[in-house]
Amino acid sequence: MRQYDNLALDNCIKCSICVTNCPVTRVTDKFAGPKQNGPDLERFRLEEPAAVHPSIGYCSNCKNCDVACPSGVSIATMNSKAKGEFVARHGAPLRDQLLARVGLMGRVCHLAPALVNWGGRVKLFRWLGEKLFGVSKDMTLPQYAGKTFYQLMRQQKFAPGRRKVVYFPGCYVTYNTPEVGLAVVEVLAKQGVQVLVEEFNCCGLPLIANGLLADARQAARGNVQQLQKYADQGYRIITSCPSCNLTLRREYHELFDLDTDSLNDHIMDVFEYLNELARQGELVEPLNPLDLRVGYHQPCHLKAAGCGVPSKEIMDRIPGLQVLGLDAGCCGLSGSYGFKAEKYPISMEIGSNVFRAVEQMGVKQVITECGMCQLQIHHGTGVAVYHPIQLLALAYGTAK
Ligand code: SF4
Ligand code: SF4
Repeated sequence: MRQYDNLALDNCIKCSICVTNCPVTRVTDKFAGPKQNGPDLERFRLEEPAAVHPSIGYCSNCKNCDVACPSGVSIATMNSKAKGEFVARHGAPLRDQLLARVGLMGRVCHLAPALVNWGGRVKLFRWLGEKLFGVSKDMTLPQYAGKTFYQLMRQQKFAPGRRKVVYFPGCYVTYNTPEVGLAVVEVLAKQGVQVLVEEFNCCGLPLIANGLLADARQAARGNVQQLQKYADQGYRIITSCPSCNLTLRREYHELFDLDTDSLNDHIMDVFEYLNELARQGELVEPLNPLDLRVGYHQPCHLKAAGCGVPSKEIMDRIPGLQVLGLDAGCCGLSGSYGFKAEKYPISMEIGSNVFRAVEQMGVKQVITECGMCQLQIHHGTGVAVYHPIQLLALAYGTAK
């Protein structure tokens, strides 16, 4: 791995394309930028791990630098490692420790979701949250669903399918938007595919983004062990969250040196899987016309996953549906980043391009695969935002 880092470093030709594509560098000078924090300082860090610029906390881990780099330098991974080094030496504030533990927060908040949702809307509590913990009082907090995805799944009856897949729902679907997970299961049931549901650890991305790499590594090991046994039996592993997908597919190997080669062949976004069925002539066509004009936002982590926009081909099959690409870059939220009081203005400034595009397009609905992008776009524009699988479930007449 160390040798791989060196090779990636030597590939840097100092073109600064990563800098021009970094949404954070574009709006603030508080961040030293991807090149300086990435390959430039990594040269020193190889000899002296403490050589981390304190501005590393301003990297949002959006991975636009990786996508843009013409030389294949793993800049965001270098930054994540550097952030981990910084946090290991200086510690992480309580706020970051909590925001990073999305699964734990989900389990705790689900003891009384209605109370948590109510508390999150009371101005006094929000003000206290900012003063005491540094959580922005202005950012819309995620709402917790009355029942988790797993609880809802236990109440559902699905006929056994000709094919079986495993679904990795991720924390946001599990605790906040279980309707997205149900839409995945319903759409796949329509194709004769049965979805096996098992509880997994959080993918670990919020821990990685907050520099808590030891805990993230532990979560990763648990997930790899659990998923490998399905992969060994030939099952596809389906995700609906681009960040979970990217973390399972790339971060576990790049950051933690876990051997995920045999696992990676099995991990797919749900729309990649539907496209595979379409290529085999096995996709049941969605028949209900949807007379809608919606904006589409491509999440940064879907771009970084390098699988294009697999939902596009499937959305094109829905009669009457008009999908318009917003093509306005990063939404700015980047997981827990935009919830932090000192980063909220940066996050909103980055997202302003997306908000403007929604307004100029005059759409009343937006679709995007990432739960955090959904939250941010709704926060910045007030329009309804859905996962594309929910529209597909509507077109199949299975949406509840
Ligand atoms: S884009 Fe890649 S090659 Fe260019 S400066 Fe950044 S890291 Fe170096
Ligand atoms: S991950 Fe995003 S915020 Fe961090 S350096 Fe790269 S482009 Fe900038």
